[in-house]
Amino acid sequence: MRVLFAADGWEKWAPAISAACPEAELLQTAPPDSVDAIIYAPNGPGCDFAAYPSAKLVQGLWAGVDQIVPDSSLTQPLARMVEPGLERGMVEYCTGWALRLHLGMDRFAQDGVWRNDMAPPLATRRKVTVLGAGALGQAVARALAALDFDVATWSRSGEGAPGIPAFSGPEMEQALSRAEILIALLPDTPETRNILNAERLALLPRGASIINPGRGTLIDDAALLSALNSRYLRHAVLDVFRTEPLPPFDPYWSHPGVTVTPHIASETRVETAALVVAENLRRVMRGETPLHLVDRSKGY
Ligand code: NDP
Repeated sequence: MRVLFAADGWEKWAPAISAACPEAELLQTAPPDSVDAIIYAPNGPGCDFAAYPSAKLVQGLWAGVDQIVPDSSLTQPLARMVEPGLERGMVEYCTGWALRLHLGMDRFAQDGVWRNDMAPPLATRRKVTVLGAGALGQAVARALAALDFDVATWSRSGEGAPGIPAFSGPEMEQALSRAEILIALLPDTPETRNILNAERLALLPRGASIINPGRGTLIDDAALLSALNSRYLRHAVLDVFRTEPLPPFDPYWSHPGVTVTPHIASETRVETAALVVAENLRRVMRGETPLHLVDRSKGY
């Protein structure tokens, strides 16, 4: 089986994928009609998918597919990356920031004043809602529940993690109105763009905080800044932005109610992801359906 590698990082990926799937011949260039599958990420050399009519799979190396889905040259099945290393990274990022916000740690880091009148409540009393209950949203919700947070998820279908309350699309108001900490793990699609607009942000309880490692397009930036300026919302931890890198004079950088992290919430880990790629290449060889196929009509 011939597999075209059209992504950045050949030096680290090639040995890992070859070790996990010795049957695959991994190539950086190949005669187009001889290619059985393409491994792809938008940070690579680019790819005109239409030139590879015999390819039965395009395997993405990233969880987000918003930069691939609109490509009209892509007619082959597209699989996105779901792998345990990426998942663990996102769990650590979200639980770390959720605990920091919950415990009000920044106050103690900055205050320099002896004020012991306000022990934070236990996590059982802290309501967290995770928007998006896919691979990452469910993993984060499970980890927060294991720390005893009062956690719920919201997704289009209402599917969520076993044992964790799950709201569906029309129940967004209930999902938001309980969220003292809101974590956004939705994909970027036409339906999710600006989903957190002024009206929806106003549904959050006063003093709520937001963690957004999903996509920058999920939030109406002007509405968020306005809610932070009026102190209606307490804090926003933002990892993703409409323009990345975040421009030097963007108001988010200097806003006291905002923590900017530079799109580092998590990333695909080669060691664990190579095993997922290998499994999908074998499925293609056996004529089976690959894992984690993207529904391009939905955009994720
Ligand atoms: P999944 O595709 O597994 O899950 C997507 C979730 O979003 C599903 O629960 C889906 O609901 C829900 N959803 C999508 N559209 C809507 C909608 N219109 N209304 C309500 N719910 C909706 O994605 P992952 O969990 O793997 O990843 C989520 C996102 O995280 C990625 O798309 C990417 O943008 C981001 N990400 C960010 C990283 C970072 O470092 N900052 C790293 C990796 C990913 P349903 O299933 O019911 O349709």
